[in-house]
Amino acid sequence: MSRDGGPGVQGQTYRISQRVQQIPASGIRKFFDLLASMDGVISLGVGEPDFVTPWSIRDAAIEAITHGDTHYTSNFGTPELRRAISHHLEKLYGVQYDPLSEILVTVGVSEAMDLAMRALLDPGDEVLVPEPTYVSYNPCAVLAGATPVGVPTYMEHDFRLQAADVERAITPATQLLVLGYPNNPTGAVLSRADMTAIGEVARRHDLMVVSDEIYDRLGYDGEHTCFASLPGMQPRTILLGGFSKAYAMTGWRIGYAAGPAPVIEAMMKVHQYVTMCAPTMSQAAAVEALANGEHEVQDMVEQYNYRRRFIVSSFNQMGLTCFEPRGAFYSFPSIRSTGLTSEAFAQGLLREEKVAVVPGSAFGASGEGFVRACYATSLDQIKEAMDRIARFTAHHRGPE
Ligand code: PLP
Repeated sequence: MSRDGGPGVQGQTYRISQRVQQIPASGIRKFFDLLASMDGVISLGVGEPDFVTPWSIRDAAIEAITHGDTHYTSNFGTPELRRAISHHLEKLYGVQYDPLSEILVTVGVSEAMDLAMRALLDPGDEVLVPEPTYVSYNPCAVLAGATPVGVPTYMEHDFRLQAADVERAITPATQLLVLGYPNNPTGAVLSRADMTAIGEVARRHDLMVVSDEIYDRLGYDGEHTCFASLPGMQPRTILLGGFSKAYAMTGWRIGYAAGPAPVIEAMMKVHQYVTMCAPTMSQAAAVEALANGEHEVQDMVEQYNYRRRFIVSSFNQMGLTCFEPRGAFYSFPSIRSTGLTSEAFAQGLLREEKVAVVPGSAFGASGEGFVRACYATSLDQIKEAMDRIARFTAHHRGPE
């Protein structure tokens, strides 16, 4: 047993697979383990709503439990939820998905991303991942035996993925392009024109696209464009959607994939063996969220928007240049004026001022020089955090 995964128990060593050894533990998690051991910290770290799931949604789950809905559902998810998702997508984006064969209910977008990669990729395949990137995309590709290839995005372009950069990264091994807009960690959104140009590249090179649209409802600057709604794109797109962010339902572990029936069938095969089905009571809650949650979504978006304006102008005022994020609930200020690396900035800020932000390097090499500050926390907390960050940056002015 030579490929050991660290110190053994009572002399035993463990042979950890090469694939798992290849993926790092999430840079975000590492940071939050440290944070959990400290008092008085204001966290702008974790990407999770501070709101509790609205009551009507909680009630729907309680009712399901009260009625004894405690069994497995169909592997695809309950017919009610699949119909509700299909209706929701058609109403919002004009895309049509057959609830019986083109929608799979999953344990969050997290599982859906893993299933999509496992269903579509083979060893040797390459996956294009825009950078900075949400932390799970590269590991999912590696776990599927494929190779992730970063496509950098830049503050100069408001972190919008450029079709020409996608095209430049394509090789004969490229199978898949991952899109994640509105974006974590940058808050960038793509315009319809951006997406159309990227879709044209996907069509020319016959790429499949996995579009993680978990933040679709959290846009502050006009309508979200659903990638699958672009002419000709639905047959090459797997649309991933969720409840965690828009409905403040992170702990319920519920999301979905919508796509061409053969791909959904392949994803379902993996899902059926490793997960069986998404939690039954969470599925009942999700039906209620789609039926009656719109008002609550709008309320939360309004509050995020207010906090967004405040945090962005605060960063800019203290000399940490911050482009205007137009979606999700993250700001991504440049910390270059301090002369610190993003890791040193985040660690110093936590140690000296007890504010947690995530180093940009946790999102890939092109995240260096930035930190991610999540504004899904109360305005009072954000104000206090901004005072502390201003004090920290005043003490750490690097060479201009
Ligand atoms: N995709 C992105 C871009 C995210 O930011 C997150 C969570 O932070 C997820 C997916 C995971 O979502 P879920 O809770 O539905 O698994």
